[in-house]
Amino acid sequence: MRRVIVATSNQHKAMELEEMLNLEDYSLETMADAGIQSDPVEDANTFVGNAQIKARAAHEICVAQGINACVLADDSGICVDALNGEPGVLSARYAGEGAGQPAINAKLFKNLEGVPFEERTAHFSCALVFIDEDGVETCVDGKVYGRVGFEAVGDFGFGYDPIFYPSEFNFEKSLGEVSAEEKNKISHRARACTALREQLCCE
Ligand code: IMP
Repeated sequence: MRRVIVATSNQHKAMELEEMLNLEDYSLETMADAGIQSDPVEDANTFVGNAQIKARAAHEICVAQGINACVLADDSGICVDALNGEPGVLSARYAGEGAGQPAINAKLFKNLEGVPFEERTAHFSCALVFIDEDGVETCVDGKVYGRVGFEAVGDFGFGYDPIFYPSEFNFEKSLGEVSAEEKNKISHRARACTALREQLCCE
């Protein structure tokens, strides 16, 4: 089995990747499992750029410590059309460093005040960067389109899930209202995982 270290401290992302990636011949582990720590500054202005920063930092640590493993990094977020693509790469920090999701949602709703549901179009984007043991990089991405609601609905998922209404559910159910299984059929991360599986199986 080839080792894959998932370079994220976000447990939700790690869990979803674990559930969806299903790579034969590879076994996923967290940075904690591998005994490494990495938290580089994510200062690129694209999702793929930030995923590369995270993956390359983890790969360099593996090389320095003689760990023979692949690494996988995820950078993701939500882009709202009426806000020119914001929060985008700032999704985790939209209401300032350390602010929680209620404060982030409040800022988003305020900025969307007066915008009707039909015009609250948005998409989630997920970039995955995989670096193999020899430093060969594979970059893929996935998107899911929908609309931003007016309040958080549902207890499932994480982050923006309870305020995002995917087109696949006719804009009638938020991602916070559906099981992990249902989310994982249509999500940006699911689509990026499918793309990565296709690339890796053809290596
Ligand atoms: P980063 O990729 O660690 O910079 O942070 C991405 C941020 O985007 C997270 O903190 C979440 O708020 C949000 N996000 C990314 N993927 C999802 C998702 O699948 N559901 C809900 N929110 C997400």
